[in-house]
Amino acid sequence: MNFLSRQRANKTFNLQLSTFNFQPFMHHRLFILFLVIASTTSCHFKNKQADLILHNATIYSVDDAFSTYEAMAIKDGKILALGTEREILNEYDAAQIIDCGKQFIYPGFIDGHCHFLGYGRTLQEVNLDSTQSFEEVIQRVVAFKPVNSRGWIIGRGWDQNDWADQSFPSRSKLDSLFPSTPIALQRIDGHAMLVNAEAMRRAGIDASTKVNGGDIDFDKGILIDNAMNLITDILPAYSREDDTAALLAAQERCFAAGLTTVDEAGLMKTDVDLIKQLQADGKLKMRIYAMLADDSLNYAHYLKSGIDTTDRLSVRAFKFYADGALGSRGACLLAPYDDVLPFSYGLMLHDALHFRRKAYDLRVAGFQMCTHAIGDSANRVMLDIYGEVVGDSIDHRWRIEHAQVVHKDDLSKFAQYHVIPSVQPTHATSDMPWAPQRLGRSRVMRAYTYRELKEQLGMVALGTDFPVEGISPINTYYAAVARKNLQGQPDGGFQAENALTREDALRGMTIWPAIANFEEHKKGSIEVGKFADLVVLDQDLLKCTEARLPQSKVVMTILQGEVIFK
Ligand SMILES: [Zn+2]
Repeated sequence: MNFLSRQRANKTFNLQLSTFNFQPFMHHRLFILFLVIASTTSCHFKNKQADLILHNATIYSVDDAFSTYEAMAIKDGKILALGTEREILNEYDAAQIIDCGKQFIYPGFIDGHCHFLGYGRTLQEVNLDSTQSFEEVIQRVVAFKPVNSRGWIIGRGWDQNDWADQSFPSRSKLDSLFPSTPIALQRIDGHAMLVNAEAMRRAGIDASTKVNGGDIDFDKGILIDNAMNLITDILPAYSREDDTAALLAAQERCFAAGLTTVDEAGLMKTDVDLIKQLQADGKLKMRIYAMLADDSLNYAHYLKSGIDTTDRLSVRAFKFYADGALGSRGACLLAPYDDVLPFSYGLMLHDALHFRRKAYDLRVAGFQMCTHAIGDSANRVMLDIYGEVVGDSIDHRWRIEHAQVVHKDDLSKFAQYHVIPSVQPTHATSDMPWAPQRLGRSRVMRAYTYRELKEQLGMVALGTDFPVEGISPINTYYAAVARKNLQGQPDGGFQAENALTREDALRGMTIWPAIANFEEHKKGSIEVGKFADLVVLDQDLLKCTEARLPQSKVVMTILQGEVIFK
């Protein structure tokens, strides 16, 4: 028997002795028990072979008991054993042994709602995130023109709420600088687009153009929701090479952020086919939970062929848009927006019949329905349809994406119909400067109610909606528990009664989205037999001060036992 483990066993034994020393008879029995344990463990010393050992760490397993460990052994991409430092080091040997230097290991993070391919594509477009003025938008577009390879200049990320002048921008400056280059610049939420005259000319848009489920301000060059399709439909198609580059660029950034699974909210079959090919070639290693877009080509294939899952790709869900977004006043509300005249309620992107029909189709084919619903009206319509179609079965795991404004009368429908809320905590902290004006002081209290939503089924899946927000799961965690932006504002947090506990926020980035993806038996926690998908951070997310949370750094990311970021 190894000396250290004998010391440890003796110490335990002594403690037990002192506990029971009023009862001499017990000494004897415990001593015999000790001898039996000692003799059985001694013959196992380092005789088990693993591929990788991680030790000298605090391992948050996020299992049911929220257990912690010091070390683990990994073999064939799965977790083989967990225990104390000595339990693992005495019993296992491995080709690769990593001393974690007292750092912290968590299950690999899962982003429960994002646009992985779309994010990769934005990495090859003009990035307009965090622009402080429309002049800065223009400057970035001008600087991008020489490196652009797609003919059109595509950009994304502006948010007029960040500017001194908070009205929608206008195309006049773009028209004079770029008379013959078409330009399309999406707002940060992806629900509004600024285009120049050349773009509108190519799309056949004039002052009289009307679009169902969309709006056009011809003079300004602003397109809302479905009106953007007039542009996106004629953009030069992304080639296979473009999208391969996009996916691999997105993967690299996401691994560096500690993500090991992404829930991709809306893909075409051709995108899924490319992902499959890149995964088969070993180039794309990221695990992807692919929601299919609400599109006839996807139905034609998948409703016949059925769900399709592998270890790295799961295709068993369809993603719908019930309404638009709050920032562009496209979210569909029960009562008018508070900050605009004439009265506007926002809009549903399809009539209820479309969603109801698709819901029945999906139920029959065994697919999960995931619906973007921001406004309280959109949430009510979708919850009622879910209730009608699957409300009587308890394990359909249908999801509402965002669940951003939920009327008090509708909240309990999440529990009643077993609907999983999938929310993005950084939306709360990004929207807090203007959401109270859009919704009014009392209705805003019904928005971003993550704790209330969590209480319905005892779980909530967390994500970012990147590239709408940044990709960092650390920022999600901080926004969820502190309800503050990265400047630490506001004091006390925004509507802090809806903050999640630290344990729950960690579950929301690991085991809960795994459940929302039907994958909790193989990922989402660090347990024997599950995939070794792990992230090592330099900070203790459960115990460090709140102010230190956003500074947490990803030290290493491991996917299926392979170190994929360091
Ligand atoms: Zn989204």
